[in-house]
Amino acid sequence: MRIAIGQLAHETNTFSQVRTTVDLFKVWEWTQGEELLDRHTGVMDYLGGMIDRGKELRIEIVPTFAAMANPSGTITQEAFQKAKNLLISSILNSGKLDGICLFLHGAGVAEGVDDIEGEILSELRSILGSKIPIVAALDLHGNITETMVKKADALLGNIDYPHTDSYERGSEAIDITARIIQGKVNPEMALSKLPLLIPTTTSYFSPIKEINEWCEEWEKHPEVLDCTLFHGFPYSDIPHAGVSVITITNNEPSLAQKISNDIAARIFEKKDEFFSNIAVTKESHFICFLPK
Ligand SMILES: [Zn+2]
Repeated sequence: MRIAIGQLAHETNTFSQVRTTVDLFKVWEWTQGEELLDRHTGVMDYLGGMIDRGKELRIEIVPTFAAMANPSGTITQEAFQKAKNLLISSILNSGKLDGICLFLHGAGVAEGVDDIEGEILSELRSILGSKIPIVAALDLHGNITETMVKKADALLGNIDYPHTDSYERGSEAIDITARIIQGKVNPEMALSKLPLLIPTTTSYFSPIKEINEWCEEWEKHPEVLDCTLFHGFPYSDIPHAGVSVITITNNEPSLAQKISNDIAARIFEKKDEFFSNIAVTKESHFICFLPK
């Protein structure tokens, strides 16, 4: 079994004046081919989890292209096109593949493209068709779109903030890709979006802790593969910014939608809890969320 892995990740603050260029990506990561394996093997990040789990399952992991920049302003059209083209052309030049497993942040915005992840997934899907599974791990700060959900077979997200579970999510992404290839599961995803922007909020305490527990409860259902709360990234002036829930079931689309809607409705009832203890220091304008 051959699965290609890659990454194009950025958390874009559209209010920042700092444009994110190729040079800014290169400060963090702009790697191709085998170099990707050297850089991520043994590292507790998404790609590190994909590489290790691939080895455990005796899957041939095919490195393609990885780009990531520190959170900063809108990605220039040039940087996005270059990174997207390198990722897609590396995948297409990888020989016969059984699946594709990516880390895409979920909150990337480029000049003229509000949903870079949706565009990457759409382009891959239009070239590769529906026979090759495309799975992506995302950051829980991703601003999720229907396009992303329609074009991917499965989208997984962090559960923890601070993000201490990126390695596990990468590992899980390989697992689900392999299970789709083997015909063991047929993921059906459903998104529920809330008209709600929340400050960056830790998962160590409630309300996030409690919401994650609701998702865990649903995950005990035998046909539920995954249920994830996406906090969204509020510092982004785009139509789809905000909180959302993705549920993935095995071949049960209406159950997936029911669960996403259930969690979303319960979050909305608790929405005031996200704002009740915000402290703003006058000196630095630093905003900090203090849970109850
Ligand atoms: Zn994040």
